[in-house]
Amino acid sequence: MRTAFLYTENYFAYDYGQSHPMKIERLRLTHDLCKAYGILDLPEAELIESKPATESEILRFHGADYVDALKKGSRGETEWDFAHGLGPGDNPVFPGLWEWSLLSTGATLQGAHRISEGKARVVFNIAGGLHHAGANRASGFCYVNDPVLAILHFVEQGKRALYLDIDAHHGDGVQWAFYDDPRVLTVSFHQDGRTLFPGTGGLAETGKGDGTCYAVNVPMLPGTDDHVFWNGFESVMPPLMEAFRPDVVVAQLGVDSLLEDPLAALELTTHGFTRAVSFLTEEAPALLALGGGGYNPGNVARAWTLAWAAMNGVEPADELPDEMKGPLAAQGATGTRLRDEEHAGTNRDTCLEYMRRSVGYLEEHVFPKIL
Ligand SMILES: [Zn+2]
Repeated sequence: MRTAFLYTENYFAYDYGQSHPMKIERLRLTHDLCKAYGILDLPEAELIESKPATESEILRFHGADYVDALKKGSRGETEWDFAHGLGPGDNPVFPGLWEWSLLSTGATLQGAHRISEGKARVVFNIAGGLHHAGANRASGFCYVNDPVLAILHFVEQGKRALYLDIDAHHGDGVQWAFYDDPRVLTVSFHQDGRTLFPGTGGLAETGKGDGTCYAVNVPMLPGTDDHVFWNGFESVMPPLMEAFRPDVVVAQLGVDSLLEDPLAALELTTHGFTRAVSFLTEEAPALLALGGGGYNPGNVARAWTLAWAAMNGVEPADELPDEMKGPLAAQGATGTRLRDEEHAGTNRDTCLEYMRRSVGYLEEHVFPKIL
């Protein structure tokens, strides 16, 4: 069945600010690299223009007061609203932030509808994955939680949703939204919360009430590389997929987990990242893939291009298209090759031991209780 890629030039009317690490331009770079490789017009792939969500769609998760605060900020009526997490710093009030949030969320919901209507099996919204936003609070560069809204759509359709988050930061906003809900299994691989924002995502966060054991966390030490990540991923994901039998997987594919990301200290390469995407493409009955973090724009574009290629079962040539070499290098891409050499992370033995102990804990305390 078909795949779909969401995109619009309208993203570039908005800007978090020059000194902010979240660069919306990385979306253009990703689109342009995919286009240069010729993988946006594959026979089974559909390129869909992103459309904004409606306010009533946003209100299915977010509070009315918070939505009003976002709209006021967006119109330039406030610069600070600490009660709702808005102000200079992580979650700046910038012109059009409400419209930006509607657009990135709308694309995710378009993708969710494509899947629930049976028109696509795999969808990628590179503008989504804003996993930190709370119901009444902006957090970690995220204003509206599009993964939560997509999962709510699937749950309302009677579907079982597995949320997988491989961003370097814990997928806290999504975890807390479904913490007591056994219809949604949340799984987050992330840099250990003792070393990185938002600080949550410990092994012992496993859900509560009816949702007990329906939250899975795999914290990883700084320096974790492809080898260590894959050791954990292949120990955790196949048994969880088999036990939970999701109808749909919503995947947050943040790439701040890559080597040389300026905000995090994991050391994955595009190789380890793409391997996870290939697994999901093959094993998930349906896949709604979302973007997320990633603060070296050149490397973000390389990784998400490879992800889109994997979702379509094609392999781009290692050599970058000539017209993209300059723009990618100017945006921080490391090297000119698309696939990295095997990279041995810092303190691999320690990272691996930590991963094995974490998996052992989950195998003993969490997996047997998932139905
Ligand atoms: Zn992140």
